[in-house]
Amino acid sequence: MEHRALTFIGAGNMARSIIAGLIQSGYPASAITAASPSASPNSGLQAELGIQTTADNLAACQGAEVVVLAVKPQLMAQVLASLTDVDWQNKLVISIAAGIHADRLMAMAGTKLNLVRVMPNTPSLVGQGMSGLYAVPTVSNEDRDYAGALMQAVGEICWVNQESDINGVIAAAGSAPAYFFRFMEAMQQEAMQQGFDDHTARRLVQQAALGAAQMVVANPDIGLGTLREQVTSKGGTTAEALRVFDENRIGDIVAQAMQAAVSRAEQME
Ligand code: NAD
Repeated sequence: MEHRALTFIGAGNMARSIIAGLIQSGYPASAITAASPSASPNSGLQAELGIQTTADNLAACQGAEVVVLAVKPQLMAQVLASLTDVDWQNKLVISIAAGIHADRLMAMAGTKLNLVRVMPNTPSLVGQGMSGLYAVPTVSNEDRDYAGALMQAVGEICWVNQESDINGVIAAAGSAPAYFFRFMEAMQQEAMQQGFDDHTARRLVQQAALGAAQMVVANPDIGLGTLREQVTSKGGTTAEALRVFDENRIGDIVAQAMQAAVSRAEQME
């Protein structure tokens, strides 16, 4: 990955995770600047990670080749409006703000942007993210590669060719950690009903989930259905549990939930 002069506007959880991942993968801390209000609890970042920090968004952008917009979505208009003196033409801009379209970001900036929009998910905070990326058509291959490598610092990436496909990424990955949390929560509750204390119930469930996910990752050529069949003996306990899921149409429930997530994302556009 090229070591371009890189500025983060906003230095919260997501920016901090990406910066830590980049430095871990050899990106020079001296090439990274994080801008956030001086009163921000994140201002200790300089001592922690060795990067430059500043409260001056404008100066931080002017000195950058790449600007990552990492403030909360509701602050984005105000932040971009204060940056109208930036010459955006020769910079790559990467927005990780949920739900703000490329054309809205450009309207807020008052100019065309060389823009990649990213939809990360929460496991990015522990280096296991899944990010969807969309580049506006003017973005060069070099800039696409750079943006992809940036998000690979906190996990895996998936490019989409149309901005609307970001909504599918939201349904399948962005919102998905919560689906798994919900499923695990239900399992923990039932394990407690069966007599385990909450700590033990959680350990049983979380290790089963982690092990299952790692088996999926370790066997990319084996379909999920086959993996399921391989752990399901005919007439056994697993088959009995799966029968209950199927009788209650688990496939339909999941499909409806994901469709609801897409519909909501469309309404929020
Ligand atoms: P956060 O609240 O942890 O961080 C926001 C940062 O912005 C803070 O450092 C704050 O001090 C700073 N800030 C506030 N006002 C500012 C200003 N005027 N100029 C510069 N900086 C300012 O938020 P986060 O969780 O890191 O989220 C950042 C972005 O990432 C959001 O747009 C969010 O939609 C997106 N995102 C986050 C997650 C996640 O899992 N955390 C997932 C998907 C998308």
